[in-house]
Amino acid sequence: MASKQRIGVYPGTFDPITLGHLDIIRRGAHLVDRLVIGVTTNPSKEPMFTVAERMEMVRREVADVPGVSVVEFDSLLMDFAEREGATLILRGLRAVADFEYEYQMAGMNQQLNDRIETVFLMADVSLQPIASRLVKEIARYGGAINKFVTPAVAADVAKKLK
Ligand code: ADP
Repeated sequence: MASKQRIGVYPGTFDPITLGHLDIIRRGAHLVDRLVIGVTTNPSKEPMFTVAERMEMVRREVADVPGVSVVEFDSLLMDFAEREGATLILRGLRAVADFEYEYQMAGMNQQLNDRIETVFLMADVSLQPIASRLVKEIARYGGAINKFVTPAVAADVAKKLK
């Protein structure tokens, strides 16, 4: 039997992509043959960066990770995953605060499509507290964000705030 490629989807807003996201992407890429990063348009979150800007940032940051592609999506996550031929959805889990939301979403997604599993990964302990929302807040108040994002992303944020 021909071996079937295992495809995973890692969805998120990535506003902007952080070192936490990148760590999850590197770990996730080892688990699948192909990892599709889904960048959601999600206008309800009122992102700092447009979806085109977020796509470009994510593409640039993962350029050195083999087997990874970046795709924009504006649909139900399970429909997107199905369209991409994925059998698993990757999510990063930080502290208890993430748990309730992620638990509920995974549970409902399971009801929508039981053929696709949600898999939770933990980032390196030093990167776990990082959240895009706080990165933006720190930057708005003039704080240094270079411990949380790559130099290129820090420059993108600084440019946006100018
Ligand atoms: P969403 O809007 O879907 O929450 P995010 O871009 O905020 O999108 O996050 C995408 C995924 O990455 C989520 O599963 C989130 O929990 C995870 N994530 C974000 N930051 C970290 C981190 N520092 N460590 C582990 N997982 C993280």
